[in-house]
Amino acid sequence: MRVKVNVSGIVQGVGFRPFVYRTAVRLGLACYVRNRGDAGVEILLEGQQEAIDGFLRDLTERKPPQAQIHNITKTPLSGKNQYSQFTIIKSSEALENLGSVVPPDSAICNDCLRELRTPSDPRFDYFFITCVNCGPRFTIIERLPYDRENTTMNEFPLCGFCKKEYEDPANRRFHAQTVACPLCGPKASLTTNRGESVGAADPVREASKLLSEGSIVAVKGYGGFHIAASAVKETPLLRLRASKHRSAKPFALMARSLEAVKSFAEVNPKEQELLTSPARPIVLLNKNSNFNLSTQIAPELHNVGVMMPYSGMHYMLFDRIPDQAFVMTSANPANQPIVKDNDQALKILGGTVDYFLFHNRQIAQRCDDTVTRVHGDRNAFLRRSRGYAPAPIMLKQKAKRCVVGLGGELNNTSCILNRDKAFLSQHVGDVENVETRSFLQQATKHLMRLTNSKVEAVACDLHPKFTTTNLAQELAEQNGWQLIQVQHHHAHVAALMAEHNVDEIVGIVCDGYGYGVDGSAWGGEILHCERGSAGFRRLGYLEPQPLLGGDVATRYPLRIAAGILSKEIDVADWLMRQSANSFPHGEIEVKLILSQLKTHDVPKTTSLGRILDAAAAILGICCERTYEGEAAMKLESVAVKGKDVLGLASVICGKALDTTQLLVSVFENRDNFSKADLAYSVHVYLAKGLAALAVEKAVGCGVGTVGFTGGAAVNALLARLMRDVVEAQGLRFLVHESVPSGDGGVSLGQAVVGGFGGF
Ligand SMILES: [Zn+2]
Ligand SMILES: [Zn+2]
Ligand SMILES: [Zn+2]
Repeated sequence: MRVKVNVSGIVQGVGFRPFVYRTAVRLGLACYVRNRGDAGVEILLEGQQEAIDGFLRDLTERKPPQAQIHNITKTPLSGKNQYSQFTIIKSSEALENLGSVVPPDSAICNDCLRELRTPSDPRFDYFFITCVNCGPRFTIIERLPYDRENTTMNEFPLCGFCKKEYEDPANRRFHAQTVACPLCGPKASLTTNRGESVGAADPVREASKLLSEGSIVAVKGYGGFHIAASAVKETPLLRLRASKHRSAKPFALMARSLEAVKSFAEVNPKEQELLTSPARPIVLLNKNSNFNLSTQIAPELHNVGVMMPYSGMHYMLFDRIPDQAFVMTSANPANQPIVKDNDQALKILGGTVDYFLFHNRQIAQRCDDTVTRVHGDRNAFLRRSRGYAPAPIMLKQKAKRCVVGLGGELNNTSCILNRDKAFLSQHVGDVENVETRSFLQQATKHLMRLTNSKVEAVACDLHPKFTTTNLAQELAEQNGWQLIQVQHHHAHVAALMAEHNVDEIVGIVCDGYGYGVDGSAWGGEILHCERGSAGFRRLGYLEPQPLLGGDVATRYPLRIAAGILSKEIDVADWLMRQSANSFPHGEIEVKLILSQLKTHDVPKTTSLGRILDAAAAILGICCERTYEGEAAMKLESVAVKGKDVLGLASVICGKALDTTQLLVSVFENRDNFSKADLAYSVHVYLAKGLAALAVEKAVGCGVGTVGFTGGAAVNALLARLMRDVVEAQGLRFLVHESVPSGDGGVSLGQAVVGGFGGF
């Protein structure tokens, strides 16, 4: 019997063809496997029915760990069997290039980990051990097709031993482009912070000893440098905070093992699955009652970001020291992309670290760690990058045109929408200066090449002054592309709709700031959106509140609190009492604020983030924001142990959910209840109020689905409270699971509106 099988998904460059070969040979099947031009794989099988059935079963059940199958089609063929053996047909370069899907980086697999620890193995203790199932991919590929000469492994010609494995179809390093050994592969080295060799015989173990003793070491990973330090010693962490000008922003941890993670954090089954997955993201975990690592790691937060080792080097860092975890934070100077080159690292990080643990393989593409957290049993990305990028988000429909979305300004990514695939770039960061702008340009261009995309339009934010808007205008002009501007919160909802393939939704969008169609600051919106439409309807929002001093107010949230409270009560004395600690210019500033509030031309915002900021300030939880989202994160951390003591009913005036009474009530009760209970009550009021308003509007326009998106949708408490309200009314409640709800998902929404909207 003969059958043709077409497989689509991420099936090229992940050891899929060798796997097909081995499976077919084992089952006594003949014929061939070859890559198809549309990034899929075609398999022709000849043999017994039973063997073919077994093959098809293994295809899905035993596929290589990095392979992602989107679709399998089977076509029985007539005619006689023609082949006597099974072969892998090498396709032409042109065919290999077409619409290829580059796999993301993948953590060291168990087979390689076992070899790393087997003294008789030729790759025993070799930090860069990889195989066809594991190792860096996206971060080493310079161009297609994915062959060694097109990667940064091209500087390391294979030795006889590696070559033999590379050429043996039965070996798991068959066609593994990253194959290397201590003889022929990349080498590690340890230097001082000035780049002088320390002359260590075992640089990785020496670095690990230094870390354990209290040194700060820059460690080169797959997609860039980490700065590593002890997780129990205060001194190196205080030094790190001082030199990185990072007073409170949490540091991520790398733990030696899952057991180690469980010794200081709570881990549910979904979190465990993510921690140990080949993508190895940083997972935000609740600290447990035994948390005894340094308080400097995640000050005043109930959770901590943790990842597991993802390379041979990382495992080696832990295997001869007792430390349960090290701090591992991205090595990027403020507002700059992550450092990836050795000479650049010496220049930029030399003043921060004591030592460098280098290796001599270049990084082609920088790629930060992914950050995620789990809501119940759902994955909620804060940042989607290493281990995920550039795997596409699969859409159910094909876009009308190929569009590139350039995103917003903070936590940015870009996105290329090509037919039914949306390729999100790695995390680019805050695009506010020359360096991040050029990183965005370079990453986008690279992604366009890798995906062989013929872009026809460029989508960007509505904000006239964003760097990305400016770049989009430039690109549109240079290339003759159509320019499509998408309102920020519309883009958030469009991303959510694309992810879940829904045609119509009422979306609750909560974040810090987005430029509204009226030019004012939006951020607590209820929008009705339809696929195929260029626009949206704004059905509701949070009460517009004064934002005194714009960006200064987001830094010092008491200003926001003052603006809101003074509408109802006299807060002059209260503000004066805090002038010394919470306002950089003390009493003079407070007086100025009070006089400015009497005028009527204070800009207004509907942002949910600002309401959370104000509540945190009133409760004394956070009066100066030193990193993005700090006040809101700390408010959530305080709220998790609270209960609703205010029991406020939502007050809706026209389209707006009142927030003044909420904050006045918090203010007046601040001595009557605990901070935890008041913080929780704030969450309850906002979540229930917005959800009820959205449900009312959805029912009104006959829409059965309500979604929650925007940066504040990573807040587990808000998401849970909203879900309860929406589902209790019999409506479907959607949140993001494949892309960030925050601004890392905006580029996808822009591209989708550009690709499906009626332009
Ligand atoms: Zn492996
Ligand atoms: Zn070798
Ligand atoms: Zn946003």
